[in-house]
Amino acid sequence: MIDPAKRDRLLQNWNEVVEDVRQATEQAGREPDAVTIIGVSKYVDAEMTAALVDVGCHHLGENRAQTLWQKADALQFGDSVQWHAIGHLQRNKIRRTLGCRPVIHSVDSRRLLECIAEESAASDTTTSVMIDVNISGDENKTGLLPDAASELLKMLPTDGIEVIGLMAMSGWGTAPDEARRQFAATRVLRDKLSEQCGLPLSELSMGMSGDFCEAIAEGATMVRIGSRLFDGVMERG
Ligand SMILES: *Cc1c(COP(=O)(O)O)cnc(C)c1O
Repeated sequence: MIDPAKRDRLLQNWNEVVEDVRQATEQAGREPDAVTIIGVSKYVDAEMTAALVDVGCHHLGENRAQTLWQKADALQFGDSVQWHAIGHLQRNKIRRTLGCRPVIHSVDSRRLLECIAEESAASDTTTSVMIDVNISGDENKTGLLPDAASELLKMLPTDGIEVIGLMAMSGWGTAPDEARRQFAATRVLRDKLSEQCGLPLSELSMGMSGDFCEAIAEGATMVRIGSRLFDGVMERG
């Protein structure tokens, strides 16, 4: 059983995040429903993940494949929740992951993309994927450099996947104005790649707890928010 005080805190955090996202979206002059909040539930167990859905969050992100499977199996949300795979994915984990019908944000190689396409096509589904781009060129970061992303998009599998956009992350401890520059660069890259490959690439998955307002100002359509939601909720020690 979840401590009622923690559930109240979770509800309060969720409402605050929703309000902040609403304001940032309005300030950017964008449509009210332009931004989807993905609750990154990697910090909490299945029970608290269910509580997050209960307070209103219907998009859940996990960065580890096994945790995603375990929670999806344990919680059986059905169509009421959309899962998002946001971390590096190993090819031997794709089949089981696809069973949870996630949006995959973190495609970072051709081999991975082809494997997702093959497995999806084999089960007559189409998986929505995004290309993880390393916009700052920081060697410690995951994702494809812009040229590699461009190469990848030149030749796409014809069945099993739909590339819907790009994911980007500003590095740890990046100052807000620098984060904003990186998000702007991601949008510009998206526009260029979209023209090159002829796909809309309409989704931009960017912005986390510390920089989602900057990301929304630069066109994010999905923000991935974890720690802000679980502030005061996570077990300590
Ligand atoms: C953990 C994680 C997030 C959420 O980060 P917070 O700063 O806790 O909001 C977003 N995206 C990815 C890929 C993550 O691993």
